[in-house]
Amino acid sequence: MSCIFCKIINQEIPSFKIYEDEYTYAFLDIAKDVDGHTLVIPKKHIENILDVDAETLEHLMNTIQKISKHYVENCGFEGVNILHASGSAAQQTVFHLHFHIIPRTSNDGVDAWPKFSGAKNELEKTFDLLKLE
Ligand code: AMP
Ligand code: ZN
Repeated sequence: MSCIFCKIINQEIPSFKIYEDEYTYAFLDIAKDVDGHTLVIPKKHIENILDVDAETLEHLMNTIQKISKHYVENCGFEGVNILHASGSAAQQTVFHLHFHIIPRTSNDGVDAWPKFSGAKNELEKTFDLLKLE
């Protein structure tokens, strides 16, 4: 298994582990782009949101909330952004499911919201394409 995140879970490569339980593992992202940038991953290798089972997703969301509350209640942060990419078209670069937690303070100068160039279609057309009957 050449997956870098599986190697982190198995302690084959080091990480700054923030939290671990039976199903999930959380550690600092090495990007050093935002203080506290944290990744939350399932212990079993799952590629992304398109193939994750509901039970694993629930475990991940519980861990995301636990860490988010810890950062806000105990670590001096005031809020979090949760970021995620599924698929190379969505700029996923590591193909082991992960969610990014970006801890925030109101004066941190970070803008975590993507800058979009503008929708190409009218809402009516998009609605016809996307609605789940
Ligand atoms: P994504 O673009 O959503 O697939 O994010 C992958 C993330 O994994 C990036 O933010 C990388 O900085 C991070 N990353 C890659 N290798 C490591 C590593 N060995 N330890 C911690 N974070 C990593
Ligand atoms: Zn993996």
